[in-house]
Amino acid sequence: MGDALLTDRSALDTVRSQFPVLAQRIHGAELAYLDNAATTQMALAVQDAMRAFEQHDRANIHRGVHTLSQRATDAFERARSDLKRFVGAGPDHELVFTSGTTDALNMVAHGLSTAGHRPAWLQAGDEIVVSGLEHHANLVPWQQAARRTGAVLRVLLPDAQGRLHATDLRRLLNPRTRVLALTACANATGERPPYEALLQLAADAGALTVLDAAQAMAHGVPDLSALACDFMAFSGHKMFGPMGTGVLVGRRAALERLEPLRYGGDMVAWVSATEASFAELPARLEGGTPNVAGAIGIAAAAGFIQQIGRDRIDAHLSALREHAAAGLAALPGITVLSAHSHATAIVSFVADGVHPHDIGTLLDQLGIAVRTGHHCAQPLLEHLGLGPTTRASFALYNTHAEVERLLAGVAHAMKVLR
Ligand code: PLP
Repeated sequence: MGDALLTDRSALDTVRSQFPVLAQRIHGAELAYLDNAATTQMALAVQDAMRAFEQHDRANIHRGVHTLSQRATDAFERARSDLKRFVGAGPDHELVFTSGTTDALNMVAHGLSTAGHRPAWLQAGDEIVVSGLEHHANLVPWQQAARRTGAVLRVLLPDAQGRLHATDLRRLLNPRTRVLALTACANATGERPPYEALLQLAADAGALTVLDAAQAMAHGVPDLSALACDFMAFSGHKMFGPMGTGVLVGRRAALERLEPLRYGGDMVAWVSATEASFAELPARLEGGTPNVAGAIGIAAAAGFIQQIGRDRIDAHLSALREHAAAGLAALPGITVLSAHSHATAIVSFVADGVHPHDIGTLLDQLGIAVRTGHHCAQPLLEHLGLGPTTRASFALYNTHAEVERLLAGVAHAMKVLR
């Protein structure tokens, strides 16, 4: 796709040609799709890879001797190794396909709180630390794990600007801390915590570390080889891949601690009428027929990101975020959340006297798609003393012209709605 920066219009046009969905009008205006934190659009390269599988190689995997089944198995396992490389996984890591980040995080919380082949990792009186920035997907499963085991849930609260601090985590850690669950990017505010240092602190204290990378895969991809991270979860649909697909990748020794969430075919070594023993990783955590085309799709999405270049993408998205955050902050009555942070692709804001739902509806009339509400992060917004927000989130195909339209649209909304 060339080396030109994504600020170069022809390089951007080449990228946008991979996303025909963008070339449409909504209420008579060009679509400006700024809801990428919810779901990115799917690249044609991804659709082509999935279609090729469905048209030529579709068969069930792992248990067939026929050619199609072998081709399907090869494609599925190739997707696994490509994705492992993408996130910097080494020989001590394993990667499990899931139906998304939510599924992956539930597998971890359930797996650490349920006794099976070994006693559960979490016992009564143990402590789970969850950051106050989390999406409900990385909070509710831990609440349930605490309930199930009698463990105690502790929250690493952010400061008034929504930032997490290592000193606060140090105060929370103690010999009973068994888990730290942390996001790589807060979907409600765009905050990018210093997760490298926080994970390291928790690992040094003997805890297992869980990184929710759902918002980080299309911008600022974490590098597992450099992280004290036992489990990392992400979703295909937030990185130009298919919906209903995801990944749990982590240290093999940590994954081995998980009691499976799903029992059945493919995850067993042998079965008698009364008992079963389980297969080795990764099969052990992949009970049932997986979404093979989906796995191929996420790997193709990772390949697409790599082809464009992570550095180019990161530079482009940081510039878009900075442009939007500065422009919005300059509008009367608008407060930008995590205004200090230039590292992520999300800008969330509140407007004096105007409900986000009304702003979102008015922007839609102008062809601009944003998200409004609590963004599945109610405790965070409550902690910050805020209600629902309006959130614009960028992907590699967005333009500075779209940011200008957003700014003009919000200024217009404030005029007519306030
Ligand atoms: N974690 C974060 C930070 C998210 O932003 C999201 C989705 O918005 C999720 C988890 C859940 O992802 P999924 O719905 O793909 O399981």
